[in-house]
Amino acid sequence: MRSNDAVARLLVEFADRLEATGVEYKPNAYRRAAENVADYPEPIDQLAETGEDAVAEIDRVGDAIASKIVEYVETGSIDELEDLRDSLPVEMAALTSVEGVGPKTVGTLYEALGITTLDELETAAEAGEIQEVTGFGAKTEQNIRENIPFARQSQQRERLGAARPVADDLCAYLDTLDTVARVDVAGSIRRWKDTIGDVDVLVASDDSEAVVAGFTEWGDADDVIEAGSHKASLRADGVRVDLRVVVPEEFGAALQYFTGSKDHNVRLRNRAIARDYKLNEYGLFDISDLDTDAADTTSDTADSQRGGVKLAGQSEAAMYAELGLAWIPPELREDTGEIDAAAEGTLPTLVETGDINGDCHTHSEWSDGGNSIEEMVAAAADRGDDFHCVTDHATGPGIIEGIGLDDDALREQMVTVDAVAADSDITVFHGVETNIAADGSLSTDDELLAELDIVVASPHSALDQDTDAATDRLCQAATHPSVDVIGHPTGRLLNSRAGLSVDMTRLAETAAAADTALEINATPARLDLAGEAVRAVVEAGGTVAINTDAHSPAELDNRRYGVKTARRGWVEPTDVLNAKPSSELRAFLH
Ligand SMILES: [Zn+2]
Ligand SMILES: [Zn+2]
Repeated sequence: MRSNDAVARLLVEFADRLEATGVEYKPNAYRRAAENVADYPEPIDQLAETGEDAVAEIDRVGDAIASKIVEYVETGSIDELEDLRDSLPVEMAALTSVEGVGPKTVGTLYEALGITTLDELETAAEAGEIQEVTGFGAKTEQNIRENIPFARQSQQRERLGAARPVADDLCAYLDTLDTVARVDVAGSIRRWKDTIGDVDVLVASDDSEAVVAGFTEWGDADDVIEAGSHKASLRADGVRVDLRVVVPEEFGAALQYFTGSKDHNVRLRNRAIARDYKLNEYGLFDISDLDTDAADTTSDTADSQRGGVKLAGQSEAAMYAELGLAWIPPELREDTGEIDAAAEGTLPTLVETGDINGDCHTHSEWSDGGNSIEEMVAAAADRGDDFHCVTDHATGPGIIEGIGLDDDALREQMVTVDAVAADSDITVFHGVETNIAADGSLSTDDELLAELDIVVASPHSALDQDTDAATDRLCQAATHPSVDVIGHPTGRLLNSRAGLSVDMTRLAETAAAADTALEINATPARLDLAGEAVRAVVEAGGTVAINTDAHSPAELDNRRYGVKTARRGWVEPTDVLNAKPSSELRAFLH
């Protein structure tokens, strides 16, 4: 199987390797093609089977790149890429995951020092060899050394947005097997953590061997890592998937146990022990009538773990109910007060995707989006939204020359947005994503900001400030009279950039007092704010905006990642700016 993401990853690697060898322009063509391939709504391998011409129809994919995609789909490799790999035998993705190390740097360091892996990079940095290379200095070497641990950690974790589609496809497939009674994901992916170790899938069945056989025959699997009688692992789209099969009577217990988190489970187990119960992956058991030997919980044979009177096991809700608790949504299971809330009946009514009425942060071809305003508005209407905000980039710090709109262009855009709005069934708001400079000032003229329907202000530059400076900067923007939303507040990129370090309590309180929403950016590479930071906004009585920051209609589908992240921060619908109907939204906007 060659998924669109797999093809896109290969094109990015192609671009990196070309750039490392000093080729100009061409790498960017490959990167743009990769983006459009990843976003393409149909399976690229099927398209490739109909020929190069069909593939070349994809936006920004020219004949040359199309022929390479077809070559890959047909043969599993691309000759020219293999040559590039041979001439520069480095672990490109691992090395470029170090902030400040781009493909060109990788090429230079390979030529000068023969560095091919993260370990070799670290050794060279510690030995002071990098600062000796022409074009590098002590400061660069120190930066590289400091950024390696973050890069190493990110190499071991997968972005939620990369893993979740694999999990969804696999669960849908397993559901079609006769021997599968129930299937669900467990582990951190069920809690919608922003990055995950691997995908845990749990199946209820009375015929585990048939399920394992079906699992290993999944057409999307790249390779099967191992297969036993109740467990198996495979890799698909670069993601490791671990399957576990249990009998239906124990599915709820296993689902609870393997969903975690560890801290949540420890607290839950203590609650069970206090009631003379035993809680484990097989069920919840009353052991008050057992003699001490039989109740020995240190023995780890499955039979001894099932001793006592079984109280629950088939359903997760019953497991919680027998412990005197309301069922706790997986997103909350981090041991941050959810068990007490479940005992007291004060769990939040969490926001759901259906509560969102429109997007407050999107782009069009006026800046770096791929589609016209008309197409984006139509796509939002198709999805059932009540409103859509057009917020293209303003020119300014952090925005590539030629991408952002200056004040004149924004005024010109007003006319176009008005025309589209007049023709649309949904409400269209005209706004901007302006830039918050390092000192907290904005890129767009105050008078113009006051005229626009909505103003999103985001940090796009100087993302390495210290906590005080970063918090001052964002607070100043949040209290600007025209700013409605602070976009992707930390500027982090999962697995590649840590982003601003922010005093979230101070920012949340300042923003709440100024009636400015803080964004949960649903772009899978961002998920910014993170769930833990969102909790601070809720506690300050503030408002969040759950936005996709879509640059194409397909990216509007990322909304669910933002909603799940919001749920991890205990967000209720009343906390969400874009859960308001458009009339109320208009009243909130400054
Ligand atoms: Zn932005
Ligand atoms: Zn944006």
